Parts: sequence; C-alpha cells; structure tokens
Amino acid sequence: MRVDVLTLFPEMFGGVFGSSILGKAREKGIVSLSTVNFRDYSTNKHHTVDDTPYGGGGGMVLKPEPIFAAVEDVVSRAESEGGAGGPPRVILMCPQGRTFNQSIARELSQERHLVFICGHYEGYDERIREHLVTDELSIGDYVLTGGELPAMVVIDAVARLLPGVLGNEQSAESDSFGDGLLEYPHYTRPPVFRDLPVPDVLLSGNHAEIDKWRRRQSILRTLARRPELLAEAELTEKERLWLEQMRAERSEAESGVRHAADFSCNG
Ligand code: SAM
Repeated sequence: MRVDVLTLFPEMFGGVFGSSILGKAREKGIVSLSTVNFRDYSTNKHHTVDDTPYGGGGGMVLKPEPIFAAVEDVVSRAESEGGAGGPPRVILMCPQGRTFNQSIARELSQERHLVFICGHYEGYDERIREHLVTDELSIGDYVLTGGELPAMVVIDAVARLLPGVLGNEQSAESDSFGDGLLEYPHYTRPPVFRDLPVPDVLLSGNHAEIDKWRRRQSILRTLARRPELLAEAELTEKERLWLEQMRAERSEAESGVRHAADFSCNG
C-alpha cells in the first residue's frame, strides 16, 4: 500500500512512521509512507497557503490551489512509478467527516493508495471538499488544532491490518471490534499476584474450554461496556440464547439493587 500525507508539518510524522509496527511495515516494504508539504505547491510570493474568509469572520481558510496541485502531483507520480492500482482514496481529515472506526479501517486496508489531507486553521475552502476528495474522516467529536494526529491514527489502524504487518495474523482478528465484540481479558505470569489469582481455566491447558471462556468473556464485556455493539455482532444461535440469559440475569440483579435502595430510602 502507498500512503501520501499532505501536511504543513511533515516533521511531525518522523517518529510515528519510523517506529514500532509502522516502521517495521515500512522496512518490510508492505507500506510506503511519504509526506508532502503542500506549502511547496503555493505559487505566490510568500508561499502562503491560507487566506481570509469571504464574508468576513475569524480564522484563516486553506486555499484550494496548493492542495489541488499537491494531490494532482502525488497522483501523477504514483502513476509514473508504475501506478498504485487505480485512482487513490483522497481523505480529508476533518471533524465534520464520517467517524472513523474499525470497519472503515478494514475497508481502507483493501485500497492500494491512500492520500491524506491534514488541515489547519479555521478550515478548508469548500471546493476542496466538493471537488477533490473522495472521503472526509473524523476521529471523534472533538476539535484538534490540525489533521496530523488524526491522519496518524487512521494510518496506524489501517496499516496494522495489512497482511504481514502484525507478527501473528490472528491478533487483528481477535482484537476488539475484529468480530464486532470487545476483546476478552488477558492475564500473564505470575499465577497469583497479591492474592489475586488468574482464572483456573486459563491454567488448565484445555484449549477448547479456554476458547469458550474467552468468547463468553468477550460477549459479557461487550454487554457491560458497549451493549449497542451486540446488535451487529456475529453470534451463533447458542450464543444469542446465552446472551439473553445473561441480560435477564443482569436486569434482575439491577432491579434487586433498585429495590434495596428504595427499601433503604423508604424504610
Ligand atoms: N473550524 C473547523 C470546524 O469547526 O469543523 C475545525 C478546524 S480544526 C481547528 C483544524 C483542522 O484540524 C481540521 O481542518 C482537520 O484537518 C483537523 N481536525 C481537527 N479535529 C479533527 C477531528 N476530530 N478529526 C479529524 N480531523 C480533525
């Protein structure tokens, strides 16, 4: 996969692109990661990339010319270097975009070429949004100063799904959201730490039982923390029945607590 990031702060990417799993993926040639400073594409005297908004108001707006020129150059370079396999996905990082999640990460991991545009200041000239990009992505309902950190988040989540990037192919599958559920709890040595034991089943060596325990823990954890995910999760008929039983037990326990509270308030 080829990834190009258009940014005014390419130096921010050095550490992230060169370290850990992303650094290794790059070394192995699984992903090529490049930054492009779109200020280099500004043709005016002072190489400015922003201007005041028409209609007045605060903040500066990123101009269309340098960003269009930078994307077009990146695309034609990719084509002249043998083609990245069709037109790229051009992704504008912005808080108004689709909220990024694991299924979008999976979708993007199927692409051959991704181009990210990192904004700054008040925002972008609307023509960039309407006529240049294929996607707008947000990493959550909050506002950061620039699109660099959001782009890094998306690139990391996508790159770790590429075949050969993670040591153990299984780990992306069993990660939270891999199958629509949160991941089960983990333990490591020692078997007892400050009187806190590891669950017996994990020490039993019985892998069928361990798998069953993990799957149920995954479902229980999702029920407790992110119940809305369960509607879309891939569960067997047997697991759905068990889940209903767990739900019933939880609501019974909760109503018991409510009764006890009412009793203590009224009594
Ligand atoms: N005025 C804009 C608005 O209200 O939508 C916010 C601009 S923000 C200060 C500057 C840049 O940071 C954005 O253009 C975008 O690239 C990036 N950014 C900020 N928050 C983001 C988020 N939650 N997800 C993705 N990008 C974000």
